Amino acid sequence: MAEHVVRCRGPYGGEVDGTGCGEPARFEVVRYRRPHLYVCPVHLGPALLLAEGVLWPPEIRLVA
Ligand SMILES: [Zn+2]
Repeated sequence: MAEHVVRCRGPYGGEVDGTGCGEPARFEVVRYRRPHLYVCPVHLGPALLLAEGVLWPPEIRLVA
């Protein structure tokens, strides 16, 4: 049985077409009134600055 892998949604949280990255996500970023954002290490920094609704200071959890 294949393990479910959460994929990175890219620096814009998947809300801009064609910007999802597809790498396995390592971090979960909590957002205000939006679904939590899953990102890989490369996109953690950009996502904090570019995605909509990110809390400040950021609230980040490690995913697996
Ligand atoms: Zn990524």
